[in-house]
Amino acid sequence: MLLILEPTISREGEDLLLSNLSSLGVQAKLIRSAVQTTVFILSDVRSQPTHVFSRLPGVVKVVRLSPTYPLVSKDASSVVSQSDSRSAPFTLGPGPAIMAGPCSVEGLDQIIGLAQRVKRAGATMLRGGAFKPRTSPYEFPGLGLEGLRFLAQAGKETQLPVVSEIMSIDQIELALPFVDILQIGARNMYNYDLLREVGRTDKPILLKRGLSATIDEYMHAAEYILLQGNKNVILCERGIRTFEQATRNTLDLSAVPLLKSLTHLPVIVDPSHATGKRSLVRPMSRAAIACGADGLMIEVHDVPNMSISDAEQAIDPQELALIVQDVRAIKEALQASQSADTGVSKTSLVTPGRALVGTAASGES
Ligand code: PEP
Ligand code: MN
Repeated sequence: MLLILEPTISREGEDLLLSNLSSLGVQAKLIRSAVQTTVFILSDVRSQPTHVFSRLPGVVKVVRLSPTYPLVSKDASSVVSQSDSRSAPFTLGPGPAIMAGPCSVEGLDQIIGLAQRVKRAGATMLRGGAFKPRTSPYEFPGLGLEGLRFLAQAGKETQLPVVSEIMSIDQIELALPFVDILQIGARNMYNYDLLREVGRTDKPILLKRGLSATIDEYMHAAEYILLQGNKNVILCERGIRTFEQATRNTLDLSAVPLLKSLTHLPVIVDPSHATGKRSLVRPMSRAAIACGADGLMIEVHDVPNMSISDAEQAIDPQELALIVQDVRAIKEALQASQSADTGVSKTSLVTPGRALVGTAASGES
């Protein structure tokens, strides 16, 4: 951090400022140039609010040189895992994580049958919306608590961990007994009270990128959750709103390697909501894994056209099986070339920790 000082500051003013900083426990160095006097802050003040410095007598401007999300940032992984013992760190599993299932849970038979089929296709987790954020209040809002019960039963019968969205603080308690991962949807990425509250739970949180959120805003949203002690956050790029109307959103794939360079958190991609078109789900799934995503979230339905919500983007389980084949091959090829680059053996690339994956599955029948 740099503090830009008043151009007319006196030597006494400089000394007072340095002593104020020292009484805050902050190490600093005064730099005088021909045109400007500045103070370079040597201590790590990333988690200190700006006003602590902007209010000090003699300071006209505070310039931050590092992003203010120390817990989320790449260099924080060891700090984070040591500082929270509430829940064991988890990994998404060695292969690409495949969270698949319907946009909305529509009934018990539907979700159990679909869970079996997505598992055979190679899904490692079951997704299903019970509390649905719908743009129109006249559209199907989801089955609510009953939907969560159905989802949990389908997860139990197939041994697939389940992920479902909650939209408000009061839905957290309702959902906790039924889900393995709590999803915060794109529309709620800016709901800071909700982020704080899920940060107090010990369930992994799938945090989707907001519809028009910058990477910086997204990182800070994740920081809200980690700051409350929950370090198990999974990021999900799900497309952002642009001028383009041909697709539902614009899938910002450059966000994937960028996020991976900024944070230690896993990053997955949702090509279903990103494109809104079932024909684009397979190619964008391949591209997502090729650029470094740790997994995918894909909407799947037995009869895609009959989906109660998001029918145009739903794929069937056969298509999912093809995607799983593609992305496993891509991931293996990437790992092989990485091993060749570094001379590291393939098995050492598997991160230790509690793997949140279902039992092994073979091809779709
Ligand atoms: C969803 O995954 O069901 C969903 C509504 O996605 P998003 O929040 O990305 O729109
Ligand atoms: Mn949907």
